[in-house]
Amino acid sequence: MPNTWYHSSVERKFLTTNAAIEDKNFDVIIIGGGLTGASAALELAKNGINCAIIEAKKIGHGASGRNGGLVCSGYRHDQSWFEEKLGNQLAKDLWDISEAAKKHLVSILSEYNIDADYQSGLAFCAHNQKMFDYLINDKMHLETKYNYQKLEIIDKANCPNELSTNAYFGAIIDNGAGKINPLKLLYGIAQSVLKYGAKIFENTKANSVSYIGGKISINTNNGDFTAKEVLFCGDGYLGGINPKIEAKVMPISSFVITTEKLDFDILPNIAGAMDTKFVVNYFHKTHDNRLLFGGGEKYTPKWPKDIKNFVRNNLLKIYPQLENVKIDYAWGGSLGITSTRLPFVAEVEKNIYTAAGYSGQGVLFSPFFGTILAKKLLGQKREFATLEKLPVPNFPGGQMLRFPFLTAAMSYYSILDKLP
Ligand SMILES: Cc1cc2nc3c(=O)[nH]c(=O)nc-3n(C[C@H](O)[C@H](O)[C@H](O)COP(=O)(O)OP(=O)(O)OC[C@H]3O[C@@H](n4cnc5c(N)ncnc54)[C@H](O)[C@@H]3O)c2cc1C
Repeated sequence: MPNTWYHSSVERKFLTTNAAIEDKNFDVIIIGGGLTGASAALELAKNGINCAIIEAKKIGHGASGRNGGLVCSGYRHDQSWFEEKLGNQLAKDLWDISEAAKKHLVSILSEYNIDADYQSGLAFCAHNQKMFDYLINDKMHLETKYNYQKLEIIDKANCPNELSTNAYFGAIIDNGAGKINPLKLLYGIAQSVLKYGAKIFENTKANSVSYIGGKISINTNNGDFTAKEVLFCGDGYLGGINPKIEAKVMPISSFVITTEKLDFDILPNIAGAMDTKFVVNYFHKTHDNRLLFGGGEKYTPKWPKDIKNFVRNNLLKIYPQLENVKIDYAWGGSLGITSTRLPFVAEVEKNIYTAAGYSGQGVLFSPFFGTILAKKLLGQKREFATLEKLPVPNFPGGQMLRFPFLTAAMSYYSILDKLP
């Protein structure tokens, strides 16, 4: 298990399926036991479909058990970008999907009785005046064109009261966004998946997927499985099994630390925050009053030797008052990004589908997009059809050069963060 604060503190109350069972024929096989895969399995199982998750390690091994827990509104681009590039109608449909994703998240918490410490109120913090002006304009745009009335301005003078830092030029609080404990959420969904009779095979890695006699065969270290339909839900952890997905979804690494329990309230009125930097800092207050802080990214598979200090340096730029606070946990994880920072939702080959590349917005999207994949198989295609229209070209450079190209491009943008 990864050494995260989540894995150390969240109790797992379910047992998964014994991979030695004889019958490995299913209607649907879901590759990947994160929030996308588990949510897809839940929707399918609830509708009586004979399905199974196969997970290379343990449920929650991937980004869903390691992330910053921030539930953000919308996408990595603002709505004006969508209107300009994709037209008003598609922009509106996409906004509606992201709002529906929030409702879905809250509804699964109550429907399946999952206590995942959800709390609303997320601050977007401007790292320079230009970005504060931008956030205010964006707020006006969302209010007037999308009737989104959940945003409040915090000016620079008020930042120390609300955020306990004067590192920012102002912020917008989004009361429709928030934070959640993603591992509690995932374990709750997985438990419900099993309750509805679906199977979960852990320590079962899909090595290859091929068509055999009108069915799809999935070769794993625990034998061959067959299915009529397959969902690839491996996001940044897929690692070499489907070149079509991996040409569009590349892994980057992000890193997180968690402080010891604080004896003061660092975010008195809000659940969490993120800033406007390209290499974003993101943080939330845990239910036991620690600061869980993410900051710093890597675009190559090589991780920093000392993750704790790599992230702590960013933490102290915002919270120098935490200089003497102990860091109890430090970890990293991979997440899928796409070249346009838009999710990749598609039928990649006949009867083989994926939803991935949420580009940092996966806590909101993965539970809903997994459900959208399932609904597509159940014949409800509307949201899938909208998401399929998103432009997600292959990364440049092909198999050989895409990592160096990505590193060069990302490094350039991260330099811009240092400019005033
Ligand atoms: C450090 C970090 C911080 C983040 N913070 C945020 C945040 O604050 N807000 C936000 O919105 N998003 C955040 N994200 C992104 C978010 O966590 C992801 O977008 C989301 O969890 C993706 O979920 P998933 O189920 O699609 O994939 P994952 O949770 O990554 O799960 C994929 C699973 O597939 C399995 N798998 C892969 N290949 C195979 C195979 N061949 N056979 C079997 N199993 C396989 C893996 O073992 C893994 O368990 C963060 C990500 C990281 C890494």
